Amino acid sequence: NQPDQNVLSVRGLSVRFGALTAVNNVSFDAKRGHITSVIGPNGAGKSTLFNLISGAIRPSSGKVSFNGQDVTARGPDHLVKAGLARSFQITNLFFELSVFENLRLAAQALEPAIHAWLPVRRSGIALARAEELIAQFGLSAKAHELAGYLSHGEQRRLEIAVALACKPRMLLLDEPTQGMSHADTEETGEMIKSLAGELSILLVEHDVGLVMNLSDHVVVMTQGAKLAEGLPSAVRANPAVQAAYFGQGGHH
Ligand code: ADP
Ligand code: MG
Repeated sequence: NQPDQNVLSVRGLSVRFGALTAVNNVSFDAKRGHITSVIGPNGAGKSTLFNLISGAIRPSSGKVSFNGQDVTARGPDHLVKAGLARSFQITNLFFELSVFENLRLAAQALEPAIHAWLPVRRSGIALARAEELIAQFGLSAKAHELAGYLSHGEQRRLEIAVALACKPRMLLLDEPTQGMSHADTEETGEMIKSLAGELSILLVEHDVGLVMNLSDHVVVMTQGAKLAEGLPSAVRANPAVQAAYFGQGGHH
């Protein structure tokens, strides 16, 4: 057990796009093994925060520490090697490859370096990992279907499996249930919950109901800034959060 309970620490993170400060001086910690969620209305800066943490864009100022290491603006490749995996709001599946092939490709990074020069890596580690994920995610019946032919819900589930292929320490998810039916949303929520523990999860989500059921800790953003954070029950009861978020029309 490491003494530092925080797997991720964000300090004073800001980014400007021209005149707009899309993320404004945001700080929070995510504890090891927990599900930490960032919620907020559309345009609050959630995806931009997500992109800053995962190294896809560079902050104007601030710091991101992962697993005790300063990873600010280190780029996605470095972060993936450090054990931070993300799934994309826009799909990153190969539609013309099968479910199994998508997973095996994603698991290639687990292969020992000695096999790296081979055109097809042959230690069987990636293959075994792909099979493990197919079973874990209930995709056995679809293993040899092309990813492009899966239902929307199955594709989103496969994306999460792909992100987990190289056994990350932390998984970042940006609206994993976007566009899903109610039943698929519930199922995905349960699946996310079952992943936490050994794995730490940062969930960026517009669906407040889902977040409140799943999360150990909730961070609320509005207009680029952090408005509140705490236990789901405390956040839900916070009058400032209700005024800024729950009170604001929509289906909440
Ligand atoms: P959310 O995910 O909470 O809905 P976003 O992070 O996508 O919010 O967007 C926050 C704000 O930043 C929005 O006003 C959006 O239009 C703006 N924004 C996001 N990305 C860019 C970009 N690359 N260039 C300019 N403005 C952007
Ligand atoms: Mg978004």
